[in-house]
Amino acid sequence: MNSHDAVRPMEESSSSVTQTKITGIRIHSLSGSLSERFGWSLNWTQSRTATLVEVTTESGLTGWGDGTCDVALLAECADLVIGRSPLEVEAIYEELRRPGGPQQRPGAPTAPGLDLALWDLRGKILNLPVSALLGKQYRSHITPYLTSMYRKDWPDFAQGMAEEAQLWVSKGYRAIKMKTGFSPTVDVEIATAVRKAIGPGIALGIDSNCAYDAGTAIRIGARLEELDLMWWEEPLPADDFEGYRRMRQALRIPLAAGETGSVDWLTLNYLQPGLVDVLQPDLEHIGLTGARMITNLCWLNRIRLVPHNWGTALRTAATLHWMSTCPPLTPAIHPPEILFEFDQTEHPFRDAILAETLAPVSAGGGIAVPQGPGLGVTVLPQIVEKYRTSLVTIGNPR
Ligand SMILES: [Mg+2]
Repeated sequence: MNSHDAVRPMEESSSSVTQTKITGIRIHSLSGSLSERFGWSLNWTQSRTATLVEVTTESGLTGWGDGTCDVALLAECADLVIGRSPLEVEAIYEELRRPGGPQQRPGAPTAPGLDLALWDLRGKILNLPVSALLGKQYRSHITPYLTSMYRKDWPDFAQGMAEEAQLWVSKGYRAIKMKTGFSPTVDVEIATAVRKAIGPGIALGIDSNCAYDAGTAIRIGARLEELDLMWWEEPLPADDFEGYRRMRQALRIPLAAGETGSVDWLTLNYLQPGLVDVLQPDLEHIGLTGARMITNLCWLNRIRLVPHNWGTALRTAATLHWMSTCPPLTPAIHPPEILFEFDQTEHPFRDAILAETLAPVSAGGGIAVPQGPGLGVTVLPQIVEKYRTSLVTIGNPR
């Protein structure tokens, strides 16, 4: 579908629907246990959690988002949301950023989960997929890179990682990412084992989750360069800007970061200085309104944009809509590939919360961008209820 064809005159929509007002917000906190713990450089976990935001309207249409939502501050700012039209999603996002809104606190998120739910509603009201609302739809399928390969209680860490990597490659994934950040010796050992196991034709990224200082990372990187890595994600703490600058000069490995940043923070610290090769914002922290800003800034500054995506399939759906509208980075016949993170670690409800399945259409293929109105997916209330640990209500949801 061409974006120009997709835009319909407003009068075709029922005026009662287009004029509908937001009546309430429900913020669902979910948690589920894992059958086997897994770890990374910072921690081990035995569970997965999520925050789902549900926005109700007078018309009965409901929007859903998966992302951060500061409950206390949103309750304080409820009058900026309740009684407004969901079509005002961008205005609401901006107003929540102003003094008086959540983002006045240093480092505080606005309400990205709310923003995603409002975009879902906007699409449902206008009977268009979110991708058609965001801009030109460049592609109908998005290529996933596989995220798994965390640390498990394997007797031999390197062998466990190598075997898991082979398993994912055998399922058709051509780009995969593994955890590192355990120690210089362990990192070189496990990354070398994985590269040897999968061969040279598979794109391999590593993620150290802020484990090192620049001096140590440069020493490790010198030994990893021969592995032809897709990128090295968060080798340093996110705010070690001078360290990232030193690494970028010293190594021939593309650097990637940005998964915890807000729009303003990423723009100031990563985009404007051109700190990293690959920017990895997550809709959890920027919302779709912020994603649109980041997309333009990345394109203008020729920085690769490869979203972080560590949530439920609802967030994956939103990320697919976003990535379908990202312009190619260069005019080449084969520009730098548009990828997004596809988490396949164990998760009790990531996929179960949707009636639809979001998966590659074939081995090695892309994932289809949902084509229904809004985010184009259906949240199953019984699954939300099954894993819900708390529910906060703002306004009068109906
Ligand atoms: Mg990461």
